[in-house]
Amino acid sequence: MVLAVAFAVVAAAHVLRRRAKRLLRDVEPQFATELGAALRKAGEPGLAASVFRLVVENACGCDDPDCASFYTVPRLKARSLWLGGGRTVRLESDRGTLAADVVDGTIVSVEVLGRPELRSSLLEYTR
Ligand SMILES: [Zn+2]
Repeated sequence: MVLAVAFAVVAAAHVLRRRAKRLLRDVEPQFATELGAALRKAGEPGLAASVFRLVVENACGCDDPDCASFYTVPRLKARSLWLGGGRTVRLESDRGTLAADVVDGTIVSVEVLGRPELRSSLLEYTR
């Protein structure tokens, strides 16, 4: 019984933590600004405007130490949306590789390569 209650408390805390929205602009303000600017430059003003409300849901989770990609909707949802048809917007970047995966005008993930510090930071926030 005590164990069951303890488990419920831990589970509830976990849910609360998960529900706390981690906005990209709060987690990585500099990167969010850069992403917005790159999208504007790529002729995507609508996507650029959406950057301020992007949520960091999951880090990519792969083992590539070079990969700092992340999902802005829950990973499984992003995958199922993507199967319905999406497009990748390649972006200009001073460092590494940057692209936005877009489904129905919504960014579902951001592909980032070559930024180890961003990778560590995102893994920290989405753990
Ligand atoms: Zn990855």
